[in-house]
Amino acid sequence: MKRLLEDAGVQRALSYIKADDDRTWDELMEFCVIPAPSHEEQLRAEYVRKKFLEIGLEDVHLDAVMNVFGTIRGTEKTGRDRPFMVLAAHTDIVFPMSTPLEVKVEGDKFTCPGINDDSRSVTELFTIARAMIDAGIRPYHDLVFCANVCEEGLGDLKGAKFIFAQEKKPYAFISIDNPVDGGIVWYGTGSRRYRVTVHGNGGHSFADFGFPSAIHGLGNIIARISEIEVPKLPKTTYNVGVINGGTSINVIAETASFLFDMRSDSQEELDRMEGIMRAAVKDCIEQENERARTRHGITEERYMLTAEIEQVGDRPAGTQPVDSPIIRAAWEAAELVGITPELRDETSTDANIPISMGIPAICIGRGGREGGVHTTSEWHIRDNDWKAPQRTLLCTLAMTGLEGVIEPKI
Ligand SMILES: [Zn+2]
Repeated sequence: MKRLLEDAGVQRALSYIKADDDRTWDELMEFCVIPAPSHEEQLRAEYVRKKFLEIGLEDVHLDAVMNVFGTIRGTEKTGRDRPFMVLAAHTDIVFPMSTPLEVKVEGDKFTCPGINDDSRSVTELFTIARAMIDAGIRPYHDLVFCANVCEEGLGDLKGAKFIFAQEKKPYAFISIDNPVDGGIVWYGTGSRRYRVTVHGNGGHSFADFGFPSAIHGLGNIIARISEIEVPKLPKTTYNVGVINGGTSINVIAETASFLFDMRSDSQEELDRMEGIMRAAVKDCIEQENERARTRHGITEERYMLTAEIEQVGDRPAGTQPVDSPIIRAAWEAAELVGITPELRDETSTDANIPISMGIPAICIGRGGREGGVHTTSEWHIRDNDWKAPQRTLLCTLAMTGLEGVIEPKI
């Protein structure tokens, strides 16, 4: 890190990022008001594609899922099979198309849904790329900048999964996507998500009393799930986050559904919880049907409840040694630029995918002060915003290497 920092080109790039802070901010003001729910990132992808071209990145293109790429070629002289690493930030936000995106200013506080997560990080890709090109820095291995899709919610890491499903995979991956500027997420919390739907015959609440109700069955399942006991370590959690169903107050519900999210640092715990959830669905439906038979004398199969369980999310868990080069590089780089490094363990991020495959990866913080992430009152206060991209540049160069200065650390 010290050798990197003494290099004149690196010095110039670091100064550039600081001087570029206002332009990066202006880009954020443009970018964060572009709607981009997961799976609908086309407008943002187009913005990034144009920006990458304007900056002068090579091989600018979109892949089949709308991840956008741009490359700074390394100085390495190997043939076609060039190793490359990826520096990424995600284009999608948690807000649907209908959420108004407008920046409100109150004193030094800027409020807009998604202003930080992960819009700010995408603009940090721009400033880092510009700084490298301006300073003439060419890494040893190829460096690919990527604005990827579908990190959030039911996007289910589709963008990162697609990158790592290709035959030629990056040898390292850094995602900028943490609310704390010096934050380093170094392992992946696994999660699985399900939509459980209960179907019944329905009926009139008075005339058909006794027919099994999809909502009653659903309530029963949720009550059973709420009793699942989980360990504190490895941290394991679950949540029923959304319920839907029914037609009217005096109608026995025909359908009802809920979304269920469970997370753990251990695949075994995820397996165990999934087993309990599946058993709960089966038992509770059977219980409702049995009540209809014995108490109300309803015997015909067509009146009985059925349930389906659809998996809508799967983020693998994975870990790596905490003294891995990529983690140490992020730590030391943060100290060198004057932000406080901090190991973070709260999230499931795009880095889950490479980490679960044994490929060195981290998720690190974006610049400035922020809060209210994933709410419509998400805010940002400008506070040495340039330091985080300075750290990211140093950390990235430690992974790519810089000819005549340092070898790649992986
Ligand atoms: Zn994010």
